[in-house]
Amino acid sequence: NRKWIYDFTHQPWSGADTKDRRQIGRENATLVMLVRNRELKEAVLAMRSIEDRFNKKYKYPWVFMNDREFTEDFKEYTTGMASGHTEYYKVPKEAWQMTPGIDRDLVFESVENFTKEGVIYGDSLSYRRMCRFNSGYFFRMAPLLKYKYYWRVEPDVELYCDQQYDPFTFMRENNKLYGFVMAMYEYPQTVATLAEHVQGFFDVHPQYVHPNSSVGFLKDKRVNRFGDLMPEWHGEWNLCHFWSNFEIGNMDFFRSKKYLEFFEWLDRAGGFFYERWGDAPVHSLAVGYMMDKTQVHQFADIGYYHPPFFRCPADEQSHKSGRCACPEDLNGYKNFDYEPMSCLPRWWGNAGKAWMKDGV
Ligand code: GDP
Ligand code: MN
Repeated sequence: NRKWIYDFTHQPWSGADTKDRRQIGRENATLVMLVRNRELKEAVLAMRSIEDRFNKKYKYPWVFMNDREFTEDFKEYTTGMASGHTEYYKVPKEAWQMTPGIDRDLVFESVENFTKEGVIYGDSLSYRRMCRFNSGYFFRMAPLLKYKYYWRVEPDVELYCDQQYDPFTFMRENNKLYGFVMAMYEYPQTVATLAEHVQGFFDVHPQYVHPNSSVGFLKDKRVNRFGDLMPEWHGEWNLCHFWSNFEIGNMDFFRSKKYLEFFEWLDRAGGFFYERWGDAPVHSLAVGYMMDKTQVHQFADIGYYHPPFFRCPADEQSHKSGRCACPEDLNGYKNFDYEPMSCLPRWWGNAGKAWMKDGV
């Protein structure tokens, strides 16, 4: 219970909620955030940025999901920040549980080993639950069923550029199914057998591999100027994946029979818990194999930050015009697109563009 000590009575700002929350954007779409109560501050900061740069003009709704009940504080502050309607949802047990039938001793052993090895989030069981949830469940949660398009937002993210068109409309009009901004290499330890299981799935279901897929992006092994910094190749997969903390997508893909079978296959293999398969590589492998590559879109015009990395549009006009205001570097990193850990050059190669930007 906070007490505001200033008297605003004589200020021109009233504090009354007179907001008209009726949606202006014309798409069947929502913003969605999976978040913990203790991340309220970060959630509000991320919302501030998304609302200012984009959503204020469109008033798309927000769906908040959590494995626990949201606190009244959380609901009040985030609804206060939203321009559109808000909805809060506690995810059901089956969406958050460990994979049924899993060998718990093996899971704890893996947690122990990952902790010793210092693998990022290796010590956290809830992180593994979260990855399984984002891989197989978010799109079938009750409040999302009425929507087709989603924009995934995480606490602590930031947009650097004015969003001057509706990205959901862009997705629909151009028949896009999946949109991302950054792509990078996964930590090899966390996906030790993922590629193997994915291959196993497509050996059994070869008809699910799209004839115009992006497997070229996932299997491309050309050495770039960072040759000596490339991670170990992982079987056939180069460990590239779309950074899924930002996603704008059409949930019809995730709700499709082929994606659900793909998820079930991986879930049964147990890797969400025996290893620490992330939802980013799982989404990316699914998108990479099963989607027409022309239906995957990199939003090159979106400036975006998720700790610790950021990226911004490369064209001068986006900056000269005031559309974007970007840092030069942040956390010791520069525009991630051209950093050694970025897989974007491989994506450009796959999309038929120059393999690497001249002089970069
Ligand atoms: P990172 O992006 O991989 O560093 O992981 P995050 O800690 O940002 O987690 C990814 C997303 O899942 C964020 O939106 C988090 O708020 C959310 N998240 C992670 N763990 C939990 C959890 O145990 N419960 C809930 N409700 N959300 C979680
Ligand atoms: Mn995050």
